[in-house]
Amino acid sequence: MLALDIEITPFSNPARRFKTKGIWDTGATGSVITQEVADVLGIKPIGKANVNTVGISDFTTDRYMVDIFLKADVRVQGAEVTVGKIASDMGFHCLIGMDIITLGDFSITNFEGNTCLSFRLPSRHQIDYVLQMNRELDIVKQHFNSGKNVNTPCSCGSGKKFKNCHGRDWETGGVPKIVLRNYRKLRCIEDFRGAQSRGN
Ligand SMILES: [Zn+2]
Repeated sequence: MLALDIEITPFSNPARRFKTKGIWDTGATGSVITQEVADVLGIKPIGKANVNTVGISDFTTDRYMVDIFLKADVRVQGAEVTVGKIASDMGFHCLIGMDIITLGDFSITNFEGNTCLSFRLPSRHQIDYVLQMNRELDIVKQHFNSGKNVNTPCSCGSGKKFKNCHGRDWETGGVPKIVLRNYRKLRCIEDFRGAQSRGN
């Protein structure tokens, strides 16, 4: 489970705060709080909403407007949330849904066995592993197709030897075929390309 310490306040009123853990939930279209959060903050519903969550059939619930502080200086202002059941006995009172996740860039990487969840607001650029792999592969192909070897400067123009640059992470052995075979071990998928629809 991916969770982080957050604070929820009434919309534009940081005087009252609810500290809890927010669960990043890509299966939730909209963000969710527990009734306890609304009660403690003393906020009034702004309307009703029909909610469709993965595994839970359609139900009607109250809608609230809150500010969510993902960190002290990272505020999602005026987030429209619905009320739902969360594992509050475990200290979780908020699901951070796709309405918030799609405001920025969100990644989970596991390099060298270390899981790193990272999020930034606003979005800065696209990370697309397929595109990245294909670009790297183009450089490797270009390098060998022009008759260079692992000790000549890399075709990306970095000035480094190929074996210390784009040939670095692969058992090149100076043989193009081996490089290409190793590249094929790298597998990528891509999803959610193009515009992401927002809202409940
Ligand atoms: Zn290079």
